[in-house]
Amino acid sequence: MEKVYLRPRREDSILRFHPWVFSGAIAQVTGNPAEGDLVAVYSSDGQYLATGHFQIGSIAVRILSFDEDPTAPDFWEKMVRRAFQARVAYGLHGSASTTCYRLVHGEGDGLPGLIIDYYDGVCVLQAHSVGMFKAKSAICEALKAVYGDTLKAVYDKSSGTAPFKAGLDLVDGYLYRAPGFDTDECVVLENGNKFHVNWNEGQKTGFFLDQRENRAAVGRLAKGRNVLNLFCYTGGFSIYALNGGAVHVDSVDSSKKAMDMVDRNMALNGFAPERHTSYCADAIEFLRDVPEGKYDLMIVDPPAFAKHRGALKNALRAYQRLNAAAIAKVAPGGFVFTFSCSQVVDKEAFALAVFSAAAQTGRSVRILDRLNQPADHAVNIYHPEGEYLKGLLLYVE
Ligand code: SAH
Repeated sequence: MEKVYLRPRREDSILRFHPWVFSGAIAQVTGNPAEGDLVAVYSSDGQYLATGHFQIGSIAVRILSFDEDPTAPDFWEKMVRRAFQARVAYGLHGSASTTCYRLVHGEGDGLPGLIIDYYDGVCVLQAHSVGMFKAKSAICEALKAVYGDTLKAVYDKSSGTAPFKAGLDLVDGYLYRAPGFDTDECVVLENGNKFHVNWNEGQKTGFFLDQRENRAAVGRLAKGRNVLNLFCYTGGFSIYALNGGAVHVDSVDSSKKAMDMVDRNMALNGFAPERHTSYCADAIEFLRDVPEGKYDLMIVDPPAFAKHRGALKNALRAYQRLNAAAIAKVAPGGFVFTFSCSQVVDKEAFALAVFSAAAQTGRSVRILDRLNQPADHAVNIYHPEGEYLKGLLLYVE
């Protein structure tokens, strides 16, 4: 294994178990490791620190282990099993009412660069690094060992997330299928709500599992309300609102495929058609034409406006504009669930954008709750960057 030597005094973050080595911290790399190879990281005075996946770029090493040997034959099974056991411990695996969850949340589960979502026996894997992409067969074997006969399929959906490098065959497809399994779709339960998930055609791994708890909060407050779900994707919040007793829900997304799935999910849950309307439209333009006071519960869950630091300023302005429009339009006594999934927009910055939005409208606005990502999107305490989803529940008079 090749070695990476850090510059003097650059080992502190690794000694605090932060899982990334930035290229600027490196003094020397021995040999000529290929991208995705395991390398051993040493301090400037030759002390062993950690082992991880090497990659050319700003994050040069993603650490897999500070003490164990990632080349050990049982390494992947051990790590996947640890992630699985945590989901058993939170009551997610084995729950009768929830049959989908995130099994591996990258750094949060000690596996930087790897996402695995579980949909009722189907594991959908997304590699975000060359190392994880190259390890996918070993990861698939680990999933078979952990889930045993209950594993229906392992689907690799890395084409949109793995860095494009020559020699990597970025084509999505099955790494494993149990005999007779020949579909790209399944029905999952989330807190008793039913959803079709299509990992081949859908966005990300097929479903946004990170909103589970926040959807439940919408379900609890929806009774008797007229709901607007902006950026609805396949209708997660809409289904919970209807099951929670909403009078009517309007769902809006610009993706035709997503809106077709909303309609299928409505039928799957058996709601009377007059309780729901689908709009394939730009959410911002839709909101502009909404009459004041029409809705008394709104969900605003846009895609990440800032994908990197350079886009932060514009993103904050966009969050402010969008939230101002929602706060201005919601009926007195209405709720606004507003979110940001941009990792570079932290809680404080988001709250400030929403505060500016409220001030712009001049309405009385209370923050009733601060919303987060759920337990299966675990944040490694040594890697606060893993916290990305934040939201506020507003009560507007
Ligand atoms: N709330 C959803 C997840 C939202 S993801 C859930 O619970 O599952 C963001 C969504 O915004 C995606 O479905 C994407 O298609 C949609 N989108 C992106 N830009 C949009 C726009 N300008 N107007 C409407 N929808 C948009």
